[in-house]
Amino acid sequence: MVKKTSSKTTSNPSSISPLLSRPGGFIGGKWVLKGEQTFDVRNPATGELLAKLPVMGVKETEAAIAVAAETVRQATPSLEARAGWLFKIVQLLKENREDLARIITLEQGKPLDESRGEIDYAVGFFQFFGDNIEVLRERRIAGPIRGCCWTVHHRPAGVVGLITPWNFPLAMLAKKLAAAIGAGCASVVKPASMTPLTCVALWSLLERIDLPKGCANLVLGSSSTIGEVIFRDDRVRLISFTGSTEVGRLIFAQSANSLKRLSLELGGNAPFIVFDDAAIEQAVNALIANKFRCAGQTCVSANRVYVHRDIHAAFTEALVERVKQIKVGNGLEPDTKIGPLINRESFRKVSKHVSDALRHGAKRVAGTAPVEPKQDWGFFFPPTVLTGAKPEMLAFREETFGPVISMATFRTEKEAIAAANSTQYGLASFVFTKDQARVERMAASLYFGHMAVNSGVSPTPEAPFGGFKQSGMGREGGIEGLLEFCEPQSVAMAND
Ligand code: NAP
Ligand code: MG
Repeated sequence: MVKKTSSKTTSNPSSISPLLSRPGGFIGGKWVLKGEQTFDVRNPATGELLAKLPVMGVKETEAAIAVAAETVRQATPSLEARAGWLFKIVQLLKENREDLARIITLEQGKPLDESRGEIDYAVGFFQFFGDNIEVLRERRIAGPIRGCCWTVHHRPAGVVGLITPWNFPLAMLAKKLAAAIGAGCASVVKPASMTPLTCVALWSLLERIDLPKGCANLVLGSSSTIGEVIFRDDRVRLISFTGSTEVGRLIFAQSANSLKRLSLELGGNAPFIVFDDAAIEQAVNALIANKFRCAGQTCVSANRVYVHRDIHAAFTEALVERVKQIKVGNGLEPDTKIGPLINRESFRKVSKHVSDALRHGAKRVAGTAPVEPKQDWGFFFPPTVLTGAKPEMLAFREETFGPVISMATFRTEKEAIAAANSTQYGLASFVFTKDQARVERMAASLYFGHMAVNSGVSPTPEAPFGGFKQSGMGREGGIEGLLEFCEPQSVAMAND
């Protein structure tokens, strides 16, 4: 949601980084620096005004789609050319790592080290798709079959609409944009309004390479206005979206008329299951790294922690000890481990999950009562551990998206599997056990697109990632993530 402003306060984003010297959108190879209105981008830790950006609307979105459509009408660039662009982007991201990391921390709030990690993760997608571009080479099927010689071609899906969230301003786009460029598509990108500066910086890098003029377009402004144009336009053949399940459903409905292909990476409600034979310290370390990354605002964040009742006391003691030492603050300060939540709405949601849990009998064993700030920034949430969580609590039913660990106990493997699967979501899951046979049973029984064993590891560019059930459709990363942006075409040629 953009809050349009006409306040006189000026900002100078180029003082943050030369990559922000043209604060605006980008259509058909040209910057769009003016709109009828502007919107503010602020540092969620300090409230500092970082930039005023133009609100683009129907006209600009249509122009972006038109230039993208024109680009895909041209001859599809060779695989070599596409891989070449991907590798150039890798190079530019690496060279500008520090500037980009600072921009991410300034607009998103996460600790600087996490921002650096996000850039490395984003680089991985451009590198992986570049390295694996050969999977798109035309394939001849052994034959003849039915009197014909058959070949399979991976054609670009066409114009693609890419809509990204605020928790990973670079990485969530990198997954999509790298695949789109690799597949030969042209993109219309709409970043989250709270974190658009990372994209502005990225486009100032993209501008330096020889991408076709309409290949990557950046549109800033109101999501519903821009979204509607993208969803309704028949020339846009695929939408790739990461964000809430609620908006995912809306995209599904609004794109129905033009029967677009959809790649939706939506919410999760990740179970984190610790069996009695697990290494407790390993599980605690993994939980802390997984849960407090990005202040708990990630779709793979452990939302329901199930610990075997025989080790529950020891596990809780070790966990609480660690959680009490975690420093919350401005992401630019070196020892900060948790930055602010993105906004008041998030703060209220996380607070509500905690108060609802306490009302239903949970115990707060780490963390203090959250105090909502009066001003519109600094939504720092105390890292919290709750025991005695129950299935009916909000914290177990919905994604908390904050630094709150909610724990319950279990007795049997069967019980753990049933509890873990008792959700409409199916994105990430985590299992801790030393029993290999159990690992295999769990992997076959858990309906989640990602399962980590004895590790809190999150997705990687080399492997497909995406949701079962209402966590979405389609995959990002891996060969599958590249094929997502292609239309396979079979050509059958008569032998004579
Ligand atoms: P959201 O509303 O789904 O926002 C994600 C993206 O969708 C942003 O770019 C947003 O743009 C855009 N958007 C919102 N409404 C739209 C519409 N009607 N048409 C087209 N685009 C639209 O997510 P949120 O409200 O920021 O967060 C709410 C919850 O979503 C979180 O608590 C979490 O559960 C979930 N979430 C999940 C992920 C994930 O990684 N899977 C990421 C973020 C949020 P604007 O910013 O301009 O509104
Ligand atoms: Mg929303």
